[in-house]
Amino acid sequence: MKMPASPQELPRLRRRKRELARALELAPDALPGSLAKSRFRCGHDNCRCARGELHTKWSLTFMEDGRKRTQHVSREWVEVVRERVEEGQAFQEQVSELLAINARLFVLERKQARARGSSSARRGEKE
Ligand SMILES: [Zn+2]
Repeated sequence: MKMPASPQELPRLRRRKRELARALELAPDALPGSLAKSRFRCGHDNCRCARGELHTKWSLTFMEDGRKRTQHVSREWVEVVRERVEEGQAFQEQVSELLAINARLFVLERKQARARGSSSARRGEKE
């Protein structure tokens, strides 16, 4: 449940909105999804993994055309991909926050406009 609007909420939201809008910038190489390390057995009986020392591999999981897709990431790419994924996540968090603020402002500003409209109606004023 959302708290009712406090007198400071509107200016605070508008300030944060300006901040976000100013800072919002997508790094051109940003990647979607998440990078994860998994452990596996290769299947060779005489390999160390058969004795419990599992191999590790990295993969990037992301959505493509509404489907989940996993792409193997070779070891030398892990750090670069990690940075690019972090850039994508930071951008998405900023966009989500900005959209949430705009939704909240939309609700609050309409409520305010209605309150103004009904109070002037009560006083018999015309706008
Ligand atoms: Zn193995």
